Amino acid sequence: MADTIRIAYLYEDLMNTYGDSGDVKILRYWLNREGHPVEVDNISLDAPFDASQYDFVFFGGGQDYEQTVVAKDLPRLKETLTDYIEAGKPMLAICGGYQLLGSYYMTSGGTKIPGLDILPLHTVFKADARMIGDTEFETEFGTVRAFENHSGRTYFDDPDKLQPLGKMVQGYGNNPDDGVEGMRYKNTFGSYSHGPLLRNENIARAIAKLILEQRATVTA
Ligand code: GLN
Repeated sequence: MADTIRIAYLYEDLMNTYGDSGDVKILRYWLNREGHPVEVDNISLDAPFDASQYDFVFFGGGQDYEQTVVAKDLPRLKETLTDYIEAGKPMLAICGGYQLLGSYYMTSGGTKIPGLDILPLHTVFKADARMIGDTEFETEFGTVRAFENHSGRTYFDDPDKLQPLGKMVQGYGNNPDDGVEGMRYKNTFGSYSHGPLLRNENIARAIAKLILEQRATVTA
């Protein structure tokens, strides 16, 4: 049997909105089809975490309250996650998790939730619209359809470093101004897409392939 693939799900018990945990289940399905058993660890508050022990890291969406709780625990993850991301290992962060990869999220209540500050992006609230509804966007993997529901608007602070994940056809994506959805930096992806995102077979299979390629590089 092929090697076991190890997935770290950051704060699985707190960060999981609108079916985000389905992303991990779908990856498990595609990796199992390639003959790999998959182990998933919930890295919750205070749980020890060494990112280099994992083949994939997932960070789901969360409501503002859960994000506040998680933000207090995040600083201890910064160094190991930075090394992991810079090494080009694969990670997917959805909505609230995506926001927390950046420097901060300013909520509707005026609370500034500090993020990991690993990637140059920040998120702010503006009263005129909650971004909710079906989305469609074009990516390097093909068309993706999903669902968004967020009040935070994400902006890139260094657009030369981050690449948008997709170009909007329907919906808002990162914010109402830029016409783009999500972000890619090396093999780390951020997205506002629930539904879950990986019900889109094209992007699910692309990420499963990246996981296997990165693993081969590391163990070769
Ligand atoms: N609480 C954040 C917002 O409203 C993220 C929401 C989510 O993860 N679904 O923008």
